[in-house]
Amino acid sequence: MLLKKDFTFDAAHFLPDYHGKCENLHGHTYFLSVTVKGIPGPDGLIVDFKTFDHLVREQILCHLDHQDLNVRFPNPSTEMIAQWVYNKMEVICQSNPYQLYEVSLSESGTSHIIIRKDE
Ligand SMILES: [Zn+2]
Repeated sequence: MLLKKDFTFDAAHFLPDYHGKCENLHGHTYFLSVTVKGIPGPDGLIVDFKTFDHLVREQILCHLDHQDLNVRFPNPSTEMIAQWVYNKMEVICQSNPYQLYEVSLSESGTSHIIIRKDE
């Protein structure tokens, strides 16, 4: 069974290796979805949505929201940010009774980078 939670965060970046509008500093409202796979426990839940929400906000979004992403990432493309989120969430999930299934990140809401364990 899969559990998916959606988040948004605002951040600024520029792409140093890109030739076009995105090489200039600009901002996005990013759309992030984190999906985990698990089996409901005796309480009927894989994880409390509120608990999972806090976890992602405290471990992931606090590093990204209202930040200059070029400080953390040499080349803050959606791909590089999604990979960082995936790697961090994978470690976090190891100490929880569910597994990371998928991270999806979008700068626009219409174009998404999706990372799954088997890809
Ligand atoms: Zn951009």
